[in-house]
Amino acid sequence: MRVALIAHDKKKPEIIELALKYKHVLKDHTLYATGTTGTLVMGETQLPIIRMKSGPLGGDQQIGSMVADHQLDLVIFLRDPLTAQPHEPDVSALLRLCDVFSIPLATNKTSAEIMLKALENKQIFNRFQQNKV
Ligand code: PGA
Repeated sequence: MRVALIAHDKKKPEIIELALKYKHVLKDHTLYATGTTGTLVMGETQLPIIRMKSGPLGGDQQIGSMVADHQLDLVIFLRDPLTAQPHEPDVSALLRLCDVFSIPLATNKTSAEIMLKALENKQIFNRFQQNKV
């Protein structure tokens, strides 16, 4: 599976914590991330990650473009709902595209854990992927 990891600045500790906890799952998948998130997660986990530009510099749009091109199977985007983001339009566009293409999207740590557990159980994940309309 192709998995994208993104976290706003205040959520970066959480995405690192998640990546470490689920390293045994993530290591079997192709990982993508926005620039800073990818650098941090790679540094902490040693997992190989294909990095896009930093989110505010177009990285969210690049991930959105991958969703539109059917190049991603799961997006984990730990958003900070309490801080204004200069690139809010890009964030909204990415979330919208995940909904347009019915791509599983986790925007907080708990939903991300549920997704990662589903990914661990490939049968469950594949069943939902195949039933996509
Ligand atoms: P970053 O981008 O990983 O480069 O910080 C995330 C974002 O703010 O969208």
